[in-house]
Amino acid sequence: MGNGAKAQQKRERNLDKNAAKGSKSQSKTNEAAKSIVCQTCRQAFFVTTRAPELDQHAQNKHSKALADCFPTFGK
Ligand SMILES: [Zn+2]
Repeated sequence: MGNGAKAQQKRERNLDKNAAKGSKSQSKTNEAAKSIVCQTCRQAFFVTTRAPELDQHAQNKHSKALADCFPTFGK
């Protein structure tokens, strides 16, 4: 008795993992986000800039204190 050979077709499925990572648009990270401006050289800093960085800028660039370059900082 002939046994019908079963042709087993393995279907290989290519699983395309579309890692659609919703990269958050940082388009808003522009000038609008820079509200801290050095009153000495008009350089703009992000609102998230920490005091130590501003203080460093003031001292290194102008030999001034933070309050001299950024009088409105923290107010
Ligand atoms: Zn400056």
